[in-house]
Amino acid sequence: MDDLMMLTKSLIEFRDERDWKRFHKPKDIAISICLESAELLEHFQWKDDTDCEQYLKDDKAIQEIKEEVADIAIYLLILCNDLGFNIVDIVKNKIEKNRAKYPVDKSKGRYEKYDRL
Ligand SMILES: [Mg+2]
Repeated sequence: MDDLMMLTKSLIEFRDERDWKRFHKPKDIAISICLESAELLEHFQWKDDTDCEQYLKDDKAIQEIKEEVADIAIYLLILCNDLGFNIVDIVKNKIEKNRAKYPVDKSKGRYEKYDRL
């Protein structure tokens, strides 16, 4: 069993032991992904590039950021499980789509969205 499958299995066990599946409607999981993403963003709010660079040298900040990243990943894995998505397959497909949308010769070193290249 690969790592993502083991993580998902362990998350579903955790959820089932607590009878939380009934709260985990896709809408609520999607909201939770946004909320956890906002918690991640909060670490960088008001900081300029220099402040962020300094902040990311702080062990406590790094630990807190890791926890927000984990929260986001947890909800993503739960959503994929509940909707029957294979996260590896859908990410691979998206990478291929992005390769087509952002050909290297047009997008290298540029930040514009594909329809502006
Ligand atoms: Mg959090």
